[in-house]
Amino acid sequence: MSTQKIFLFDFDGVIVDGMHEYWHSSLLACEKYLNSSHISIDQKRYKRVPNSFKEIRPWVKYGWEMILIVHEIIKVENPLKNHNKDDFINNYYQNCQRILNDNSWIAEDLQKILDKSRQYQIDKDFKSWVKLHDPFVEVINFMKELKRREIKTGIITTKGKIFAEKILKQLNIFPEFIFGYESGTKIKIAEKLSQNHEILGFIEDRKKTLIDIKQNSETSHIPCFLADWGYLKGLDRYNLSNEIKLLKLVELEELVAI
Ligand SMILES: [Mg+2]
Repeated sequence: MSTQKIFLFDFDGVIVDGMHEYWHSSLLACEKYLNSSHISIDQKRYKRVPNSFKEIRPWVKYGWEMILIVHEIIKVENPLKNHNKDDFINNYYQNCQRILNDNSWIAEDLQKILDKSRQYQIDKDFKSWVKLHDPFVEVINFMKELKRREIKTGIITTKGKIFAEKILKQLNIFPEFIFGYESGTKIKIAEKLSQNHEILGFIEDRKKTLIDIKQNSETSHIPCFLADWGYLKGLDRYNLSNEIKLLKLVELEELVAI
């Protein structure tokens, strides 16, 4: 194995809190590009991120699901609210598929309009768009420390690569690798990287992704950390196998000692 050391990071919920951006970009996408007769957009009313959206966010795997969730929240009839959000969450995957079918939507098209909405904001007012993201300072410092130690960093995100890249640049972070949804699954990316790198760790806030990494023989050796500060589901912190470590922000300093 090569001696090139690398540390891997998820992006959303690990490096930045983008809750405001997810809501506003998805809302704008619904308003400008979705063309649905079931919704009414009231920018004033939706200035703040609704709790139902915040609470469903931990279930999201791909960006397009957020368009679908926002659509359900701003529907005129029978909208998704706090009182019925548990029904939605309990069958999350099936509900997403059902809503796609009911509206004759294709996931890739929803992803495209989310990207379009982001690009629109970037072209119009880049600074305001960047400001919708709150970086986790401890993680940024950790990444800078890795650089000082000549350890490479890689970002594996389900966002479009260019969007992650633009935000990281503003944070003065220049990772060796950024992989977006265009690059395939996180497992395949980790598998490929592990062929010529020693992967020191992977910090991610989606537990299922870490479980998949641990269950794949090509990637099971990668030390996996579940980000305690990320978008975790209520039960994620419990019943963790001892192969996946729950990591707190304050513990990042200790991690530098690897
Ligand atoms: Mg994440």
